[in-house]
Parts: sequence; C-alpha cells; structure tokens
Amino acid sequence: MGFVWVSQFECASCGAREATTRLEYDDLGYAVCPGCGRNGKPAPKQVAGQ
Ligand SMILES: [Zn+2]
Repeated sequence: MGFVWVSQFECASCGAREATTRLEYDDLGYAVCPGCGRNGKPAPKQVAGQ
C-alpha cells in the first residue's frame, strides 16, 4: 500500500477543498479556488481554546 501525502487547499471563501497539485495558481503564486475562482493564501489553522 502506498500513501502519498498531498497537501490540500481549503478555500477561505467557499470552503472547497482541492489537492494543491490540482490547483491553478495566479501570478503571485496563490492558489485559485476551483469552486469560486477566488485566489487566496492557505487558510490559517484555527487554534482550539480561543
Ligand atoms: Zn472558493
């Protein structure tokens, strides 16, 4: 069994998830959401307890 870790992009706008290898990127290198077309930085992790 093989397991390949693929980092995922999660859109901060619509919540769509996609493997980063399947995304398109804009001129600044930001991933473009396949769902809503919005580009953005990877969503920061939410810290529990805040
Ligand atoms: Zn989106």
